[in-house]
Amino acid sequence: MKFYSTNNKALQVDLRTAVTQGLAPDNGLYMPERIPTLPPDFFAALPSMSFADIAFAVAQNLVGDDVPADELRRIVDHTIQFDAPVVEVDDHLYALELFHGPTLAFKDFGARFMSQLLGYFARSQKQEIVILVATSGDTGSAVANGFLGVQGTRVIVLYPSGKVSDIQEKQFTTLGQNITALEVDGTFDDCQRLVKQAFLDEDLKKKYFLTSANSINIARLIPQSFYYFYAYARVQHLGRPVVFSVPSGNFGNITGGLLARAMGLPIHAFVATTNVNDVVPAYLKTQVFTPRPSQQTISNAMDVGNPSNFPRILELLGHDYQALSALIKGYAFTDDETRAAMRLVKASAGYVLDPHGAIGYLGLQHYLHETTDEVTGIFLETAHPAKFKEVVDETLEEPIAIPPALQKFLQLSKRSVPMKSDFPSFKAYLQGNL
Ligand SMILES: *Cc1c(COP(=O)(O)O)cnc(C)c1O
Repeated sequence: MKFYSTNNKALQVDLRTAVTQGLAPDNGLYMPERIPTLPPDFFAALPSMSFADIAFAVAQNLVGDDVPADELRRIVDHTIQFDAPVVEVDDHLYALELFHGPTLAFKDFGARFMSQLLGYFARSQKQEIVILVATSGDTGSAVANGFLGVQGTRVIVLYPSGKVSDIQEKQFTTLGQNITALEVDGTFDDCQRLVKQAFLDEDLKKKYFLTSANSINIARLIPQSFYYFYAYARVQHLGRPVVFSVPSGNFGNITGGLLARAMGLPIHAFVATTNVNDVVPAYLKTQVFTPRPSQQTISNAMDVGNPSNFPRILELLGHDYQALSALIKGYAFTDDETRAAMRLVKASAGYVLDPHGAIGYLGLQHYLHETTDEVTGIFLETAHPAKFKEVVDETLEEPIAIPPALQKFLQLSKRSVPMKSDFPSFKAYLQGNL
């Protein structure tokens, strides 16, 4: 499979280049040059296939020529080590729980697949692959845990000192092995700036094989299509068209769903649902895309003012606004509405939503009220509520239990390297420690 840049269809690279570069040199996003439809016998077998078998078939359909089958099977099996259950919350309304991985958020899928794929590429080169990742919380933990112990890779996580939650910090500062956490005396923007400068620095580029692991990497996108197939298979017997509601920030998760649909999964519609950072829902109403600075909300993993995967959504729908707005419905909700939904669903169904899943739920509810179609609705529950313990406890007025997977991190002791926010200090650290 070749991958082209969304800025220039003629710029085509192989999978290894697309994954190790992340962003194309012309700042475009890599997309598969064609998206093959899965064969009828795959769809016939789908309801009885295991999650890992589905993931393998889907991955092979996209990158089967680039990675030998036994390697791809190993990569997929390593990624899919936990379930993604579909849980009934209301009539015709289900939660797809994507939080059963090691860091209790859906980003585990993308990070685990990417780390294994990079580990595979690292084996055929002498140089260690160094992954630089700036994080405001969740990405750092998923990436660090995904790469933990992967031969031939080294991860440097940069995070703003004092600006991530205790639980988040523990998830990437306690790991050791090939993971190092740099505690930057500055903001998240400072961390991002340091990473960007490192990629432009000639001395570092000459000496090290640097790459990033941010959410625009195609290796994080591909596995985010797996669970749409798996969830569809769980509700297929109900005989209704299936709608997915996706709480969105950078719109990578919903892009995974669009990719699944392009491979032939008969998804009836998508609901793109956000907090007050509603650039995409506004676009769906007005056809005008206006990025703006993000506003802080209680669903902070979706506080994005310029959704990075938007060009991929346009590509997948052929830049056809009519097609796009017919398939994807947009809704946006305030923090008050989010909290009200969390209370309502706890009271009516005994189900505890995290603030992001609550936005997915709200979007789906609104869609179901407006449509005359008799559908099965599935919203993506993207994180375990205990990851947002403060907001959840305060909203539901009772403390949520911390699951053992998170408890484990809290008991370990933090190890981080203090780092000043100027580039020469960061560069000197890399040169002295890699
Ligand atoms: C990252 C994240 C999102 C947003 O996903 P996108 O792919 O950026 O749209 C939603 N919920 C949680 C919990 C996240 O960590």
